[in-house]
Amino acid sequence: MHERAEALRTAGAGIYIYENGLRVLEALGAYEAAVKGAPFAHTREVRDGNDRLISTHRWVGSRVFSIVRQNVINALAAAAARADVEIVTNSAAVAATPGGELILANGQRLPADLIVGADGSNSRLRDSLGLLAKRKYLVDGCTRLLMEKTAAERAAADGATTIEYWSGTRRVLYTPCSETDIYIALTMLDTDTAAKAVPVRKDDWKRAFPHIEALIDRIGEQGRYDRFDVIKLKRWSAGRVAIVGDAAHALPPNIGQGGGCAMMNALSLAVYLERENDVASALAAWERNERPLTEHTQRVSYFLGLPTTWPPAVRALTLGMIGRSKWLIAQRTRTALHRPTGT
Ligand SMILES: Cc1cc2nc3c(=O)[nH]c(=O)nc-3n(C[C@H](O)[C@H](O)[C@H](O)COP(=O)(O)OP(=O)(O)OC[C@H]3O[C@@H](n4cnc5c(N)ncnc54)[C@H](O)[C@@H]3O)c2cc1C
Repeated sequence: MHERAEALRTAGAGIYIYENGLRVLEALGAYEAAVKGAPFAHTREVRDGNDRLISTHRWVGSRVFSIVRQNVINALAAAAARADVEIVTNSAAVAATPGGELILANGQRLPADLIVGADGSNSRLRDSLGLLAKRKYLVDGCTRLLMEKTAAERAAADGATTIEYWSGTRRVLYTPCSETDIYIALTMLDTDTAAKAVPVRKDDWKRAFPHIEALIDRIGEQGRYDRFDVIKLKRWSAGRVAIVGDAAHALPPNIGQGGGCAMMNALSLAVYLERENDVASALAAWERNERPLTEHTQRVSYFLGLPTTWPPAVRALTLGMIGRSKWLIAQRTRTALHRPTGT
């Protein structure tokens, strides 16, 4: 595995992993280490600008954990090491050929039976093969950070209620994600330069959310802003190169399934390679069987982001309806409740 950074690190603070992703972690032997100390995120509340409850969603009968991302990366890296994977850091790839050659930034050309491009939404491997069909930047983006729990938060040991506070086009998502950490995601329009500034401009956020001033005051200097996008490929592979994760199908985080889809599609790729006689038929069966669920997830996630720019009253009505409609809940939770191939 070639990683361009000097270590396996993530800047994304926390992550929700639902039943589908947890099953993949189990299949890889990375589950226990990944969820250690992470709270079971059983309830999610949505609140309006006056702190009134708009909707509540309870996860009953399936698991969802909010986890510090680095713990997931470490658990996956440990599982990879147990499987004798060689992890090469400071090693950037610049291109791949359909014939199965990986070209590194240092000029090395490495032959492979199959190259898996998992190099994120700005994927150089994907672009070197001309596979991109569509990349749509969305109107909004998000700054993510961690903060230390207070003594009261540490004492609350009943799992985790996550709360999404809305004010105008801004959102604050509050998520306990370990014994010691709170994960905060600040979502705003990409044009809202004051809101997306890092370090976070706390006075500006406090004006928008006076009822959670004390929480905003606890934000430190760190944080990372990312604009949301949706990516679609002409095909998920070209010859001896498969593309997985955000490189193939980035989606906005409105149902927390970008990582879930990445993990499902990576594991199922291995399953099809084992089942089929040759790489070409494995890649064809993989995309034919797995792509529809990923595209459903992209659609649902995209539509759930649309109310961001609607007038607050209409948005509150819509979010309330989304929280109550059985059909909409089924659409939203289909990916989380899917039993991934290979699990
Ligand atoms: C605000 C926000 C919240 C989110 N919340 C959730 C959530 O709660 N649950 C969830 O499941 N998903 C969530 N996601 C989505 C999730 O973060 C992504 O879908 C997931 O990280 C994609 O993983 P990936 O491995 O495909 O890409 P990345 O995480 O981008 O990893 C790509 C890796 O490749 C390396 N790399 C890049 N280019 C090269 C190169 N040329 N050569 C070598 N290495 C390279 C990078 O350094 C990096 O390590 C969220 C996303 C955002 C923006």
